[in-house]
Amino acid sequence: VKDNGRNGYGFYERGLTTGLTERMSLEAELRKVVERGELELYYQPKVDLLCARSAGCEALLRWRHPSLGLLTPDRFIRIAEETGIIVEIGGWVLRTACEAAVRWNRGGWADFTVAVNLSVRQFLGHDLAGEIQAILAETGCRPEWLELEITENLLLEDRDETRATLGQLRDLGLKLAIDDFGTGYSALNYLARFPIDILKIDRSFVQGIGRDESSEKLVRGIVSLARSLHILLVAEGVETAGQAAYLQQIGCHLAQGYLFAKPLSEEQLVSWYKQYRQQ
Ligand code: C2E
Ligand code: CA
Ligand code: CA
Ligand code: CA
Repeated sequence: VKDNGRNGYGFYERGLTTGLTERMSLEAELRKVVERGELELYYQPKVDLLCARSAGCEALLRWRHPSLGLLTPDRFIRIAEETGIIVEIGGWVLRTACEAAVRWNRGGWADFTVAVNLSVRQFLGHDLAGEIQAILAETGCRPEWLELEITENLLLEDRDETRATLGQLRDLGLKLAIDDFGTGYSALNYLARFPIDILKIDRSFVQGIGRDESSEKLVRGIVSLARSLHILLVAEGVETAGQAAYLQQIGCHLAQGYLFAKPLSEEQLVSWYKQYRQQ
């Protein structure tokens, strides 16, 4: 029972007892989730505010649990990370996203990209760049169709192993994005030391637009920082037309959020894409 603290932390919103029981059964089931085919990817489009076009999406993981229904990552990602199961799950996510990118691009969606979220754990103790290279070769996915989203924490730990892997991924021609930008203990100097292409402004700042001045100042600061470093920006969690207008006006042209679309099944994404282009 020495794991108590950790379990309690993972499920701080529920009772500790429920947390422990749920965790133990989920953990056992998670080990078989790939072979049982219970994982699904949903895709949230990224739109260009200037030309109302979508040039890509982010893949978001879901677990179609036999009795609990469709689970979002907050229910299981932490367990998958702590147990290391995330390495196998992450491989499935990369392969599935690449296969989808090939379908879309062959189907005529020119240079439609897919962004995949990576856990720190996927960088440690296994050859991530080699794995991705093999997946690209096997699926026929072009490197420019795949973006990788990492968090600031990965860069702040600054291990040789991670640094080498990021260099190899960049050499393969993939784009690297920093997720939830602004929420970590960022020392910002990592932006100069690592090959970063994209910053994703965290939803907490975007949702402050129109509500509090300090969020707006922060967002404007991030826009000018990105511009001077020649890094592309994506605003996350855009929910209102007012937020979109503000972002467009200050020069942040790429956005994701419920205003445009929630995460969609592949079938839903296909119909969303057709309609959106006709607007
Ligand atoms: P994230 O990468 O920051 O993804 C954005 C989250 O915000 C998603 O939650 C998305 O559904 C939600 N979202 C998008 N637009 C809006 C909006 O306008 N308003 C609000 N309130 N929320 C919005 P989701 O799908 O539950 O994913 C949660 C987190 O789980 C992700 O945060 C990411 O860190 C992680 N995750 C998702 N898929 C994977 C994966 O394949 N591998 C790993 N390692 N982590 C994943
Ligand atoms: Ca993300
Ligand atoms: Ca994010
Ligand atoms: Ca997040």
